[in-house]
Amino acid sequence: MATVSVEDRGFQFGDGVYELIRTYNGTAFHLQEHIRRLYKSLKQIQIPLTTTPDQLERIVQSGIKRSQYAETKIYIQVTRGAAPRLHSFPKWVFPTLVMTFRELDKISPKTVQKGVAIISVDDIRWGWCNVKSLNLLPNLLAREQAIRSNAFEAIFVRDRFAWEGAGSNLFAVFGKKVVTPPVGHYLLSGITREVVIKIGKQIGLKMSEAKISLDALYQADEIFLTGTTVEVIPVIRLNQKTIGAGKPGAITSLLYKSLQNEISS
Ligand code: PLP
Repeated sequence: MATVSVEDRGFQFGDGVYELIRTYNGTAFHLQEHIRRLYKSLKQIQIPLTTTPDQLERIVQSGIKRSQYAETKIYIQVTRGAAPRLHSFPKWVFPTLVMTFRELDKISPKTVQKGVAIISVDDIRWGWCNVKSLNLLPNLLAREQAIRSNAFEAIFVRDRFAWEGAGSNLFAVFGKKVVTPPVGHYLLSGITREVVIKIGKQIGLKMSEAKISLDALYQADEIFLTGTTVEVIPVIRLNQKTIGAGKPGAITSLLYKSLQNEISS
């Protein structure tokens, strides 16, 4: 069995980053983009991983083959390594690289057909939300609050603006315009978010990036979330307020179908 030292800085400090990748028909979805984002996160927190992106890609691909699941979810976690506990970076330390391959539970079609409820929570995260850091405590607390409120996801609100979910990106539809908060320090640039923006433009939708206040979000005609496991999921309630007609909207459904087409093509 693989083990990690109790002195690993991932365990001691959450000093590391990660990626979650999934397969469709046994092929990793946008693997290179995930690996690129992992190296970007590593650079931002100054972890010098010597494994190259090509090597990582090959390990992921062989792991998928060997695990033989119908569909696989792959976590790649990299920490600064194991060293006696000190806040400053140790001089002699090798990054710890862990990958897990598990069977993917697909989101149920019923959930997608019905849509989900979300709540808003104060964004108590640090200022570098663009780094896919192992420090997920605010995300865990937010998600737990959502579950206890019978909601699917919690949306982080900072300075009156809604940025993203605890584990998903946020989109809102106003008339014919599809808006998502801009990349920067306050959200993770989701791979699915990028794919959905691209697909939306291809099918002629007006896709734009702009800040969305919580007040404006209540007035949206449609809201949906994107993410590796949730794909495109319609939101029908925000903090007990019904969104749009209280059922998945036409533009959300169109983007969901277009994403499924892109996946199967
Ligand atoms: N935002 C946060 C905070 C996340 O944790 C995630 C996914 O884990 C996303 C957005 C969606 O990113 P992706 O589409 O790459 O899964």
